[in-house]
Amino acid sequence: MTNSLYYTKTGLFRTPSFFADETWLKKRLHNPNTFIVPVWKNLNLVLDHEMPSAITLSGNHARGLLEVASEIAFLGMDGPDFGDDTASAYFAIDVSDCEIPSLAPMLGRAKFTELREVGMLMGRKEGSLLALARGVIFWHQNNRFCGNCGSSSASVQGGRIRRCSNPGCGCEQYPRTDPAVIMLVTRPGPDGGACLMGRNHNFSEGMYSSLAGFVDQGESLEQAVIREVFEETGINVDDVEYKASQPWPFPSSLMLGFRARAISTKINIDPKELEDARWFPKSVVRKAEASGLKLPRTDSIAYWLIKDWLAED
Ligand SMILES: [Zn+2]
Repeated sequence: MTNSLYYTKTGLFRTPSFFADETWLKKRLHNPNTFIVPVWKNLNLVLDHEMPSAITLSGNHARGLLEVASEIAFLGMDGPDFGDDTASAYFAIDVSDCEIPSLAPMLGRAKFTELREVGMLMGRKEGSLLALARGVIFWHQNNRFCGNCGSSSASVQGGRIRRCSNPGCGCEQYPRTDPAVIMLVTRPGPDGGACLMGRNHNFSEGMYSSLAGFVDQGESLEQAVIREVFEETGINVDDVEYKASQPWPFPSSLMLGFRARAISTKINIDPKELEDARWFPKSVVRKAEASGLKLPRTDSIAYWLIKDWLAED
């Protein structure tokens, strides 16, 4: 069932040796089989809002954008063969410094669009490619200075690394994602038991979701699950079981999905974190719409964890 998670299927090969050969990367950039995935201020290039498709560029349009890009990062190959000229290479580029009218001739009818609005309506492979491009460019944008000495850093090895420009430092930064745990807390009971879901202050009306939070330093994933559930709802859990993970580039998290078993039932929410939290019987979640309950967005692992639980007897 993990195959059905959104943003996990670029289909690209990202072997480290691809990134190491800068001469090969430069040549690849101008190969007719190369595709460019542009990112503008965290937005992706998409055609049509109703039935959206990801737009990648090649040929003249790609060349025009490459000339004005502030960052170029290799994403991977659509086949495993490093030397095969018929395999396509994919590069993400950052064109955030450009005004849209100056880019318009290269974009056709496509528009820079928030992936969160269209990702769930796209083919999985296309959505995953845009998510990867967005995540890679976000990392570059937010690591332009060395964390060690504060000098500027530059992208090397096809964007795989950023290296400090200060010769006395030379510190290298590698791409990072922020681990966050997301957990569906359940308890046994009649008709399949119940799950614990909460809503925070900016959820749309009627929406509840599984709990989530970032992992702290010095903490295992299981400890993070136990701590976050207790902090947000006052519920104690054990039997923390890993289920699946999902890259979530909004902006830069890796969501680690868990199931946990409640060993207490009385909810005591932290009002700073949540507006409400409740136990929802499985029968109610199964007929969410009829019950006036709105579940999380369908492209999220939160939704996947709920569906996974519903699919059990
Ligand atoms: Zn430095």
